Amino acid sequence: MSSEYLESEIFCMGTNIIQRVYGFNARKTIKEVENEMKRLEALMNFYKDSSEIGILNSYGFEKEVKLSRDVFYIIKKAKYFSEISQGAFDISLAPVIELWGVFTKHERVPLEKEIKEKISLVSYNNLILNEGENTVKFSKENMKIDLGGIAKGYAADRATQIYKQNNVNAAFINLGGNVMVFGEKPDNSDWSVGVQEPFKSRGEIIGVANITNESVVTSGNYVRYFEDKGVKYHHIIDPRTGYPADSNLMSVTVISQNSMEGDALSTAAFVLGDKEGMQLIKNYGAKAIFITKDKKVKITSNMRQDFYLIEDNGFEYCSEVGL
Ligand code: ADP
Ligand code: MG
Repeated sequence: MSSEYLESEIFCMGTNIIQRVYGFNARKTIKEVENEMKRLEALMNFYKDSSEIGILNSYGFEKEVKLSRDVFYIIKKAKYFSEISQGAFDISLAPVIELWGVFTKHERVPLEKEIKEKISLVSYNNLILNEGENTVKFSKENMKIDLGGIAKGYAADRATQIYKQNNVNAAFINLGGNVMVFGEKPDNSDWSVGVQEPFKSRGEIIGVANITNESVVTSGNYVRYFEDKGVKYHHIIDPRTGYPADSNLMSVTVISQNSMEGDALSTAAFVLGDKEGMQLIKNYGAKAIFITKDKKVKITSNMRQDFYLIEDNGFEYCSEVGL
């Protein structure tokens, strides 16, 4: 088998998407995945009134809005992850996220009364789904949804389906931190993915996870933030308060076969904090690596063989490793 691969990078879904594909049909497959990513972005772009999400956010209270299979499926799954996380993950948080200006040039600390007003619009229970018709309706006026916390995971899963369909030998895709690997590399070595050292600059790692046909997704408070009067405000919001999640965690990395699951679960577990977050991951049966603010590393027992912590880096395994 040829050990040659092709690499490509495009900017899409608000991030750099990097692919590395092994096999004779790599070029065609890469193009197909790029086109699929562009299609998904056009469907789900929160900032575009003409996207399906834009249309739903404009008319969702007035009428049932018919959606594509992809978008309906993602909303259905998002609602499910809200339910199992007791609302720690919630796509209807969009009005609050807008206030904070996440992903815009207008990041700011909102007034308390603004948060109060917008948080009254937030609840996944206000999303009414009609399975047979693929329609969604809002039961509250002015509510909005944003798939930003789950869309990249879905896109990674779609990419993997395309790699499979095209019978490529192996592939790697990274959508701004949502990593997915497929197949076996020509030398049969494991795919390994570094876990970011949350106190240091990008690229410095605390350890390495070995994975096979799996996805690795990290939610961390260092990924995206702004500072105001010396206080850091990051982009993962606790739907119960409307403020950045304030747990004892620096990051949660979830390893799972399905990247959309990993995307939703990592955000949810980050909001819930290490104890409840671990419980959620355990109930779900995924694998995870939690890093706390006091430099403890907690991993699920199903990850013990596949995660290597770099020694003498100031981080230590916590005694509660097992589940
Ligand atoms: P990243 O965007 O860095 O990959 P996440 O996957 O954790 O990080 O997603 C965070 C994004 O999801 C935020 O930028 C915001 O748009 C949205 N979001 C923030 N908090 C929540 C939440 N509690 N539930 C659902 N989506 C959220
Ligand atoms: Mg996420």
